[in-house]
Amino acid sequence: MGAGVLGRPFQRRDGTLWCEEVPLEAIAAAVGTPAYVYSANALRERYRALDAALAGVPHRIHYSMKANSSRGLLRVLQAEGCRADVVSGGELFRALRAGFAPEHIIFGGVGKRRDEIVAGLEAGVLLINVESAAELEIVEDEARRLGVRARIAFRVNPEVHVANAHQYIATGSRGHKFGIPWGDVPAVAARALASPHIELAGLDMHVGSQLLSLAPYRDGVERLAELARLLQQQGAPLRFFDAGGGLPARYDAEDAPDLALFAEIIVPVVQSLGLELIVEPGRFVVAESGTLLTRVLYRKPTGGTDFVITDAGMSELLRPSHYDAFHAIESLRPRGGQATVDVVGPICETGDFLARDRQMDDAQPGDVLAVHTTGAYGYVMALTYNTRPRAPEVLVDGSRWAIISRRETLEDLVRLEAETLEWKEA
Ligand SMILES: *Cc1c(COP(=O)(O)O)cnc(C)c1O
Repeated sequence: MGAGVLGRPFQRRDGTLWCEEVPLEAIAAAVGTPAYVYSANALRERYRALDAALAGVPHRIHYSMKANSSRGLLRVLQAEGCRADVVSGGELFRALRAGFAPEHIIFGGVGKRRDEIVAGLEAGVLLINVESAAELEIVEDEARRLGVRARIAFRVNPEVHVANAHQYIATGSRGHKFGIPWGDVPAVAARALASPHIELAGLDMHVGSQLLSLAPYRDGVERLAELARLLQQQGAPLRFFDAGGGLPARYDAEDAPDLALFAEIIVPVVQSLGLELIVEPGRFVVAESGTLLTRVLYRKPTGGTDFVITDAGMSELLRPSHYDAFHAIESLRPRGGQATVDVVGPICETGDFLARDRQMDDAQPGDVLAVHTTGAYGYVMALTYNTRPRAPEVLVDGSRWAIISRRETLEDLVRLEAETLEWKEA
């Protein structure tokens, strides 16, 4: 599967930008700006494309909820048969609340607290992905106390080289905080196999995010497969081979991920091991389904590059500031003509920008812009810095649209503050 097979949900028609069969101007007028808008059919299309690509082997797709955990969006994926991957007690709460069956949930994360592990065990999730010997001890301890057998997988650090990634989104190289170091796994496995309270059911890796080359997968799959064979010889009752997430989204002119090649790398290996494949895609599933609508407040000439000052900034979309990420930006209704500008938000930080030195539609105050490929790691990273209420989220499905998260109010923002102080004596 090459470029262009996955559709673009945002298309220009009659001089303005649409999401599926809904003009974005209508949504901006109804809910105001800033606002996130997602295409339900783009979600379905990506889920189905991946599902079809992996048809050669028994597999489960566990959507990585940290990319976007809004219930309205989860429900669309769930209806497709998609399952969930969570990395905190909070995400576990959201997954259960959205209606995922516990046995359709995988619980990972490098720093689970004891109470979060207990919540996972009590819910009866499919797997707890254990990331260290110390965590294994806590899982065993709590499983014994609860009188259950904890089904776990080891998250392994495959220690492969990952190129093309921002340093903050590479996770599977030697020295990263994630996973059990590859060479330590047999020893930790021996401890798990000796425990009546632990069922070691799988191996898991996550080599990184936005993997534009599939080479790290190939290396990681080989490394994980080698371990799987070793553990099978040790007597581990393995059922699952979890290849993690990392499939990329198109932010600029990238090709769509080659799902056929992805399958070619993974499917035969998992077949030969006699295991079931799990994948945990996040970004691939949701990134391209979303756009952030923001209105131009001011156009400020500075003698050099003009600033386009918008009503969204790092508080709505942190990725440009945090990862130096590129997001394509266009006007809903271009005036004609281009300009090279910095698109910046209203936050009192110089690092508050959406784009720098960008040639784009010549935008003027009042124009609404679409900041693309923001369905993943957008809303979930929203800040309320400068006491800015979070933007609403809208789901489009064909010619219909609905608010899935309303705009936060100022009252919402201050409701955690104590009215009167209840002092305690030390
Ligand atoms: C973040 C994460 C994912 C999803 O990563 P994407 O790059 O968004 O696909 C999958 N698995 C784990 C363990 C993660 O931490």
